[in-house]
Amino acid sequence: MEDEGSSRIRSLETCTEEEKKTMELLTKWGSDGSQQSQFKQNFENNTDSDSNIFQSSLVPLRLQINNNGQKKTIWQYPVPSSPRYCRPIRIRFIHETKDVTNNEIEYVESQARNLTKTEILTATGILYITHILLPTMVDAKIYNAATNTTSTMRCYICGLTSKEFNCLSRRKEVNPETLRFGLSILHARIRLFESLLHISRTSYLLKNGS
Ligand SMILES: [Zn+2]
Repeated sequence: MEDEGSSRIRSLETCTEEEKKTMELLTKWGSDGSQQSQFKQNFENNTDSDSNIFQSSLVPLRLQINNNGQKKTIWQYPVPSSPRYCRPIRIRFIHETKDVTNNEIEYVESQARNLTKTEILTATGILYITHILLPTMVDAKIYNAATNTTSTMRCYICGLTSKEFNCLSRRKEVNPETLRFGLSILHARIRLFESLLHISRTSYLLKNGS
């Protein structure tokens, strides 16, 4: 840890003035709902209920310099799936529905758009950090609600169903808006194996001279 800390400080010291102004903190965020059955204890007010919880949280992933597209990583979270740096954004006692999910995405994204740069005074000057929030910490229920995908058997990126994936010639346009949620396992894996099949076939043909 000590080594990592000191090397990070060294890399900050070697930053140029320009680089100190173009820092970015990439943070993933997401929401999920949870249910629990009510036990014996009742609320004072009968209409109150804690049986549904809906929460949004964030995890910082990487601090980098982005100088006109030239990126340099200053710090990267080594265990991004660990809950250690996970921080809540909002917790509500509400049932996870499509409307609640879409409202939550709008709520967090509108705040993310209005975030100002963080200024940190260090011994070698001021660092200006822009915040970039990526809605990638989500499950199928969340991205299906956000992309209006009604069936869980349908790929939210290209709109094909798992049945249609069997036909390799069938392609549908990828909606670039949906890529912000990360790659769908259904879309990425099947397309990946399709690519591998294609490569193995062409390399076989090349090797055999036809
Ligand atoms: Zn797809």
